[in-house]
Amino acid sequence: MSESLVLVLNCGSSSLKFAIIDSSSGDQVLQGLAERLFSNEAQLIVKIDGEKTVYKINQADHAVAINKLVAVIRGIEGLSARISAVGHRVVHGGEFFRASTLITDQVIDTLRQVEHLAPLHNPANLLGILAARDAFPTLPHTAVFDTAFHQSMPAKAYIYPLPYELYIHHGVRRYGFHGTSYRYISTQAAQMLGKPEADTALVIAHLGNGASVAAVEGGKGLDTSMGMTPNEGVVHGTRCGSIDPSIHEYLCQRLDIGIEEVHDILWKQSGLLGLSGISNDCRTIEEAAAKEHSRSQLALEVYSYRLAKEIASLVVPLGRLDALVFTGGIGENSSLIRAEVLQQLRFLGIELDSAANEHCIRGNSGLISRAGSTAALVIPTNEELMIAQDAAAFIA
Ligand code: AMP
Repeated sequence: MSESLVLVLNCGSSSLKFAIIDSSSGDQVLQGLAERLFSNEAQLIVKIDGEKTVYKINQADHAVAINKLVAVIRGIEGLSARISAVGHRVVHGGEFFRASTLITDQVIDTLRQVEHLAPLHNPANLLGILAARDAFPTLPHTAVFDTAFHQSMPAKAYIYPLPYELYIHHGVRRYGFHGTSYRYISTQAAQMLGKPEADTALVIAHLGNGASVAAVEGGKGLDTSMGMTPNEGVVHGTRCGSIDPSIHEYLCQRLDIGIEEVHDILWKQSGLLGLSGISNDCRTIEEAAAKEHSRSQLALEVYSYRLAKEIASLVVPLGRLDALVFTGGIGENSSLIRAEVLQQLRFLGIELDSAANEHCIRGNSGLISRAGSTAALVIPTNEELMIAQDAAAFIA
């Protein structure tokens, strides 16, 4: 296979993750992160062959970080000329984008129209796109959306039981996220099951710092746990997931705080962090729980119980289940959470293979259920490779 290097950019509100990936082989030539943008501690970290170089980029914004990255790339002999496309992760595509798209001026106008749907993420994504287009004006740039995969959801799955006008005039509906991961995992799971993807019925649990679950039939999204924003659904690292919507009003009144502070509680102080009181990191919580830290034990119980309920509910749109797949940092590494969840889902016919479950950590993929029972799989996700492949598809 011939080399096809793609620069993959993922702009967060104050960070930029990047990689240069060969979309044919999946090999990463370079990867890294610009973090703490807009602050005096801003820095660009570039890793090549495991070797890390840190560049101070005081007060840098996304454009400055991208320009520094471009200078680093240009300083590596012959590398710049080998890059044939740029792929951008874009969090929200609203209802406009059902698939990845080549970025044109018109696409940029449309992205501006959906900015209000993801005010923390999409403006940063757009800044990255504009800076990268300036830096690489002759290369094709592709936008790959977290939401696009879920545009196949039927109305009964994406409409909230709110006044319908709020959907029509203000876009209040469920969109779903982590779509790039679900697309990758669905294809991989079909291969592991030895079935054509078109015949598969999967529930996929993407459990990272942000966590979601999706029902995927024949490679298409039928329903998912995240909604209008990436907070709905299961327990996250610092976000609460689904709660009674009237808690917002109660907290405003009871604590005499404004909606911004309530937002802060529900997005940054809840989830595993709020429950455990010590960390949003599942590893830290597991370690504390093992030492009888009761709030950490409760955090893991609530996490697993809510996750198991969500998984079971997502079998409804499928009507059957070929496999439950775990992915994301927690899904790929926490044999404890997986065991707790599967214990509660035995009625789905999944029987845990404990030895296989302990083996599937740190990048090991495989079946963690017993032969003859409904399959449970662990598959490491690779969103960067998906973005690179989508971008490479537009090299005409
Ligand atoms: P992600 O957002 O996909 O990078 O996932 C981050 C989450 O994965 C954090 O909560 C980590 O604590 C969790 N994680 C990573 N490694 C492990 C591990 N060995 N055991 C439990 N959780 C882990």
